[in-house]
This record gives sequence, C-alpha cells and structure tokens, in this order.
Amino acid sequence: MTSVVELDEVTKAYPGGVAALRGVSLSVGYGELVAIVGPSGSGKSTMLHLIGTLDRPSTGTVRIDGHDIAALSDRQLSALRARRIGFVFQQFHLASGQSAVDNVADGLLYAGVPMKERQRRAEAALVRVGLADRLDHRPHELSGGEKQRVAIARAVAGEPALLLADEPTGNLDSASGSGVMALLRELHAGGTTVLVITHDRDIAASLPREVRMRDGQVEA
Ligand code: ADP
Repeated sequence: MTSVVELDEVTKAYPGGVAALRGVSLSVGYGELVAIVGPSGSGKSTMLHLIGTLDRPSTGTVRIDGHDIAALSDRQLSALRARRIGFVFQQFHLASGQSAVDNVADGLLYAGVPMKERQRRAEAALVRVGLADRLDHRPHELSGGEKQRVAIARAVAGEPALLLADEPTGNLDSASGSGVMALLRELHAGGTTVLVITHDRDIAASLPREVRMRDGQVEA
C-alpha cells in the first residue's frame, strides 16, 4: 500500500444538477505535502469532503488509507475519520469556553483515547506547534495564528495518516499565515502527510506538489 489517497474517476453531482467533480483521478502517497489549488467553485472543497470521508462520490472510487469507502458503513467511516484523518479549517472551529489543552484533548474523544492519555497527548501536540506557554489560554486569549496552531495541534494529536487543511491561512494576516505554512512544512518533514486547499497561488507554488483544479477536473 503506497497511497493514502486514491481517487479513481470520481464524480460528484449535487442535488439540482451541479456537477462539482467531473472525473477526478488523483493519488497521494504517504508522507507527501500537496497543495490543491484552483479558483472558487472549481471543486476543491467537494474533493476535500470526499477525501475526508465526510461525503460519498456519485460515481468512481475513493480509497483512503487502504479502505474503499464505498465498502464501509457510516459507522466504520466515522471510525476511519476519527482515527486516521485530521482536519483544519479556515474558521479554526475551537470551543470558545475551553482552554487550548481541552480543545486539543477533545479532538481525541472519538478515537477512544482515555482521559489522562488525551491530556498528555494534547499537551505534547501543543508543545509541538510552539504553544507550550499557552496551554491554559482560551480562544479569545489567543491571536488568529495561535488559534490556528491550536487547531493544527488538535488535528495531529492523534497522529493521523492524513492532515487535511482547508484554506488554513484564509483568516490570517500574512505573517501569521506564513507561520502556519511553516508549521505544516515542519509536520511534513516529521513524516505527516498533508493536503492543503488554497486559492493562493504563491502558497501553492511554495509546496513540493501542486494539484490544479478547474471546473471540477484536475488540470494536466
Ligand atoms: P471550491 O471549494 O473550489 O470553491 P466547491 O467544491 O465548493 O468549490 O464547489 C464546486 C461547485 O459545486 C460549485 O459550483 C458550487 O456552487 C457547487 N456546490 C458546492 N457545494 C454544494 C452543495 N452542497 N449543493 C449544491 N451545489 C454545491
């Protein structure tokens, strides 16, 4: 098994007839750092949802970490997602009343990790993203860049096979954005597989591999 993501002739049609993906084939190997770039409406988010097993394709095959997702029940899919995929979003999605540690630890709930171990791994993940001195801060006590670091810590605390980041710098000023991209590169250097969706061509061009989307297809 060499690919963590394997899409074969994948299409996705939304109710109402929008063909968001029109025959996408893509293979991403373990340990890669890949940018998925393309204009708004080109199908990036749809593809990320399919890769993240949040949705199923209309036709074609999606294999994630060796599993054909069509062969899995919703329950098995949730388990695969909880244990093997980490998500980072533009909007951070942190719980507002909770400390950084608790936000990260809660990300391990569905992976079935016991509480003490969740706390230990959460602290280690926050140290890893450079927030050792912000463990007890709540989101409103953190800068945008720090919030995104907490979200990244939450995504990697369970050591996923795949980290999916959807416009992770979209809400950040350029300095914080560069810091977040540097962190993703660091995680990649440490062995994490990272897929970054971006409409920023400079960010995309700075990564080792670029997949360009247009009108629901991967450009040659
Ligand atoms: P991107 O992330 O590149 O901006 P999307 O994957 O969000 O592109 O969207 C691709 C196309 O699918 C667009 O035309 C969009 O309007 C349409 N689309 C996205 N989500 C839905 C949905 N839930 N229902 C119907 N159409 C959708």
